[in-house]
Amino acid sequence: MIFISRWDALLFIKGAVMNNNFNKMTVFQTVILFILFSFPPCCLSFQYANLHQNCCFNSFLADKNATLKDHVTSLANSPEMVGWMKKIRREIHKNPELAYEELATSSLVRRELEGMGIKFRWPVAKTGVVAAVGSGNPPFVALRADMDALPIQELAEPEHKSQVDGKMHACGHDAHTAMLLGAARILQELRNCLQGTVVLLFQPAEERGEGAKDMIREGVLKDVDAIFGVHMIHRYPSGTVASRPGEFLAGCGSFKAIIKGKGGHAAAPQIAIDPILAAAVSIISLQNIISRETDPLDSQVVSVSIVQAGTAHNVIPESATIAGTYRAFGRKSFYALRKRIEEVIKAQAAVLRCSAEIDFDGKEHPTLPPTVNDERIYEHVRRVSNVIVGEENTELATMFTGSEDFASYLEEIPGCFLLLGIRNEKIGAVYPPHSPHYTIDEDVLPIGAALHATFAYSYLRNLSKNCSNSSC
Ligand SMILES: [Zn+2]
Ligand SMILES: [Zn+2]
Repeated sequence: MIFISRWDALLFIKGAVMNNNFNKMTVFQTVILFILFSFPPCCLSFQYANLHQNCCFNSFLADKNATLKDHVTSLANSPEMVGWMKKIRREIHKNPELAYEELATSSLVRRELEGMGIKFRWPVAKTGVVAAVGSGNPPFVALRADMDALPIQELAEPEHKSQVDGKMHACGHDAHTAMLLGAARILQELRNCLQGTVVLLFQPAEERGEGAKDMIREGVLKDVDAIFGVHMIHRYPSGTVASRPGEFLAGCGSFKAIIKGKGGHAAAPQIAIDPILAAAVSIISLQNIISRETDPLDSQVVSVSIVQAGTAHNVIPESATIAGTYRAFGRKSFYALRKRIEEVIKAQAAVLRCSAEIDFDGKEHPTLPPTVNDERIYEHVRRVSNVIVGEENTELATMFTGSEDFASYLEEIPGCFLLLGIRNEKIGAVYPPHSPHYTIDEDVLPIGAALHATFAYSYLRNLSKNCSNSSC
């Protein structure tokens, strides 16, 4: 007979005493009992390292004794871990690097991953790093952080102020990278318990809107079941988690149309073909798409923000250029709007005997599709957030006209993008992203690391159990 736990041992002793046959116990059983009492099982001992499969957290929400939450938050909030994440975040903040130039940041990420004994692939999408923690086998779940800074002169005065003129981490990507490294450390501690593999994506060039697409082109989503992304936001108090199912952030696209006519004397328009008139009619007709063709409850925008034509008051030019942006929240609406912009400009140009060429792939302003969260994965995020930060700190976010290149991942696989509040008036963390005064509340770093790690851990566990109810 072998006792499998201290509880089993106690039950045996109780039974033996009640049946008055304690003296029948073998020497072997007594030795086993002594070992069990002297070295209690690790599930009950809160030893963070070297957990083996029997010690994994099979109950996330229901078990009151040794929950995954207790374990992960203890790890994330240990003074050593918090100090380490702050140090990393400050090191990145001091040396901001723009899109596809994140060489020092990428090197720092690799240095820390190597220190943890985590394997990674590099370079991916020029400066990106892709690491893996867990069994190395399916299922795979991905966590994403972006690493690039912005061409902004920092006007805040933190101790760790940007050392590079004209460049600044004004969107919190320095903190995103530090939080994902924190999650990597937590997951590495739990690696023997992971029921699959967590893929950690440190991507470049979010601000240019191309980093995620480049990462996808290099195969980072191969066999990945789901993806999670966290972004700092000043709109919510520190530690608040906000997200929503379905449509969340707007898609953002740009267009540039060159309308060609036939140049001539402005005093004899009948022998010229006027592209300026075609451009003017096109601009008005583009507004009719929004006011006459779209559902008023389905918010969309078309703005013409550039008009260029002509060089002299008495010359009808050869061509006219109009350019602008369009936004929509639903994928269907977004791509339908893009199609109608092309149809309207071409048709109005034709009415006025002109031709038009339209470019939707401007290098400076690439298309970002709408960010649409998968409802099932959102529900997972909501439940995990309820446990990690409390129901009172978990909010249903409103739709938001900003855009994120995380949307490109969500076009490929299901996932969820969520916001983590950093608003703290006491330390001046009140400015919106892309402000030169942008400041974050670093106390949210352990919360972000714990959220990342728990999303992944419990998602893999749920897949293996094929369960979706709250006791999972
Ligand atoms: Zn940004
Ligand atoms: Zn950002």
